[in-house]
Amino acid sequence: MRFTATLRLLRLLFSLIASADAAQGVDEVRIAGKEYERISDWAKSGGFTLRWLKRDEAIELSNSALSIVLQVHSPDAHINGVGVRLLFPLVQKGDAVWISRMDINSTFEPVLSPPRLRRGAPLRSICLDPGHGGKDPGFQVGSNQEKKFTLLFSQELQAQLKRAGWKVTLTRSRDTFVELPSRPDIARRRKADLFVSLHFNATEASASTVKGAEVYCLTPPGAPSTNAGGEGGGAGWFAGNRYNDENMFLAYQLQKTLAREVSVEDRGVHRARFAVLRDAAMPAVLIEAGFLSHPIEGRKIFSSGYRRQLAAAIVDGLDAYRRTVQRGVSSS
Ligand SMILES: [Zn+2]
Repeated sequence: MRFTATLRLLRLLFSLIASADAAQGVDEVRIAGKEYERISDWAKSGGFTLRWLKRDEAIELSNSALSIVLQVHSPDAHINGVGVRLLFPLVQKGDAVWISRMDINSTFEPVLSPPRLRRGAPLRSICLDPGHGGKDPGFQVGSNQEKKFTLLFSQELQAQLKRAGWKVTLTRSRDTFVELPSRPDIARRRKADLFVSLHFNATEASASTVKGAEVYCLTPPGAPSTNAGGEGGGAGWFAGNRYNDENMFLAYQLQKTLAREVSVEDRGVHRARFAVLRDAAMPAVLIEAGFLSHPIEGRKIFSSGYRRQLAAAIVDGLDAYRRTVQRGVSSS
C-alpha cells in the first residue's frame, strides 16, 4: 500500500513538472510542496555557464571565479570544491533539472553574495563551546571521552585566536556539566559576536572507514535537517534563524579551511536544529572536527599536534569570515 502510494505521489509530482514544462514561460514548479526553479534559469540569471560533467549524473555551473557541482537526485553539492549538503535533492525530468528555491536562497546565495556586518562595530569576540562535560562524556572510544578532547581542543583554539587578536570566552573551562540551553546564553551574556561549538564524532558501524570533518549550521525554517538527532521543537522558526545567511557563510568558510589546510576528509556543510544553534543570539556553528572512532583519525585527535593544525585552520576560517563580512567597514 505504501509503495503504491509513493508511486502515485511520484507520478503526480512528475505530472506537475510536465505541466510546467508545457506551459511557456513558467519556470517554477512545486515538488513535494517546495518551490523548484529550472537550473538553466538560475544559471542564466547568475551569469553561469551550465554543463554536464557526466550526463544525467553531475552538472556544473561555473564562471571565472566559481564552480558549483551538483548531483542529480542527490543532496550532495560542492562550491569551489567544498562540500555542501542541499536542503532538498536536485530533481531531473527529461532534460530539465530543477533546484529548490530554498537552496538557491539559503545554501548558495549566502556564499555567492556573502552578508555584510549588520552593526557598525567590527567583530572582536568569540564564544567557544567545548562539547559535553561533567556527567556527560559525549562519545567514548576505549577510555577516551569526547568531553576531554573538546576541552583540550577549545583551549588550543582559544590560545591561537587570542594571538590573532580575538577576544575569546569559553562556555566551560573545566570538566563541568553545562546544560545545552545555557551555552548560547553564556555567549549572549558575554556579548560574543560569534558562537562556535566544538565536538568530535564517533560511529560504531563502519568505524574503520568513516572519518572526516563536518560543520553544522541551523536549518532554515520549513527545511529538513541533514542530521535530525537531538532535534526538538519542530521545523519552525528559531531565534538563531535571524542569522541564516551569516550561519551558512560562516559554516562554509570553516568547512573550506578545514578541508583545504588539514588532510581531513570533507564531509561538507550540514544543517541541524541542535539546541546550541537554535537559540544563539549571534551567528553560530557546530564543528564535528573528526571521528574518534576511526583508528587513524582518532589517534591524530588524541595528539596535540593535530589539534593545533585543526585549530589553525579554524582561525583562518574565522579570519576569512571576518574580513569578508567587514568589507568596507573601518576596523578602527
Ligand atoms: Zn559531541
